[in-house]
Amino acid sequence: MVYRVCVVGAGIIGVSTAVNILESIPNVEVTILAEKFSPDTTSSGIGGLWLPYLAKNTPQESIYKWGKTTWDHMMAILRSPYADEAGIHLKPIYDLFDVELDKDPFWKDIPLSYRRCNQQELDSLFPGYVSGFFFMTLFCLCRLYIPWLMKRYQARGGKVLKQSLSSLSEIADLYDVIVMCTGLGSHHLLGDKEVYPIRGELVKVKSSWTIATSAEKDGVLQSYLLPGIDHVFCGGLAQVDNWNEQSDPKDVQGVLEKCAQLVPSIKNAKVISSWAGLRPGRSSIRLEKENLRIETTIKKVVHNYGHGGSGATLHWGCAQDAAQLVMQSIQELNRSKL
Ligand SMILES: Cc1cc2nc3c(=O)[nH]c(=O)nc-3n(C[C@H](O)[C@H](O)[C@H](O)COP(=O)(O)OP(=O)(O)OC[C@H]3O[C@@H](n4cnc5c(N)ncnc54)[C@H](O)[C@@H]3O)c2cc1C
Repeated sequence: MVYRVCVVGAGIIGVSTAVNILESIPNVEVTILAEKFSPDTTSSGIGGLWLPYLAKNTPQESIYKWGKTTWDHMMAILRSPYADEAGIHLKPIYDLFDVELDKDPFWKDIPLSYRRCNQQELDSLFPGYVSGFFFMTLFCLCRLYIPWLMKRYQARGGKVLKQSLSSLSEIADLYDVIVMCTGLGSHHLLGDKEVYPIRGELVKVKSSWTIATSAEKDGVLQSYLLPGIDHVFCGGLAQVDNWNEQSDPKDVQGVLEKCAQLVPSIKNAKVISSWAGLRPGRSSIRLEKENLRIETTIKKVVHNYGHGGSGATLHWGCAQDAAQLVMQSIQELNRSKL
């Protein structure tokens, strides 16, 4: 018997989950159903830096496990002939703080070459910052990575369907298992009021030589600079409960000013474009299965959403666990038929 699985959502979480389901479970027909596909999802706009951020109360052990699995997956692509096509690359980054930190982050042994910054680096490069880390980290440029994953999915027979859902009852009869990878959309579609937007703004400027940097003051991220081939993404905004998806000139100005305080050459850099995106904030990432009543039927539903500022950082680990939960749901369906 072939089981029909619908993954709702085509951001980095939905596409990676669909690939894992197809590649790990026999006898499934998988459909990705979504209102928006690449390049129009939130995921598609990001630089895809590996660094756990804004995952709120998600347990550290889970973040570590998902982050490490994702790192290993990205590293395997980096060491393959597909790294360029998939947008996976490795870069050094400084992560800076305005206070002395008494401990290292719990994830410090995952990226390469992790060490504390020395005083000479801080004084000469980043005056005003008291401590920091330096490490080599991975990036998945999602405007390349998601289409690359989608190709892998479709080569295995995965289907896609463009549709906006206002209720799960529209698809409940058509699939055996529904997987919710709807990010911020879970707020309305599932009525999950724990999901809220954390708005960010990325400003792309022309620059060739900037080193990747992220800086925190008073416990709040101030600015980060993520360099590409001939440009830099400048960011640093995290506006809770702001649903505005349009770029705002005032925010663009604010982001550039803070980034120029960190790396002065940004002051004279030409702005290429700006983009506002809404991170799917949640009290903690929701990765679990349930038997959900949808009108008169009870449906097997797996949830994988609410990744905040860490969707790229954790996606592959979360996708593997979500695929496991789909497998368990199918086994339960099998048992109920005996
Ligand atoms: C400015 C900014 C910078 C960021 N930088 C990084 C970074 O460097 N590293 C990192 O790890 N994370 C970063 N993030 C966070 C990251 O973007 C998110 O965690 C991630 O994109 C979440 O992925 P997702 O697939 O859950 O959501 P999305 O990409 O938003 O996808 C949701 C999908 O669900 C679909 N959907 C929703 N509701 C419905 C519905 N009712 N019917 C049909 N389809 C529906 C949508 O159409 C879409 O396809 C950043 C975020 C922002 C805003």
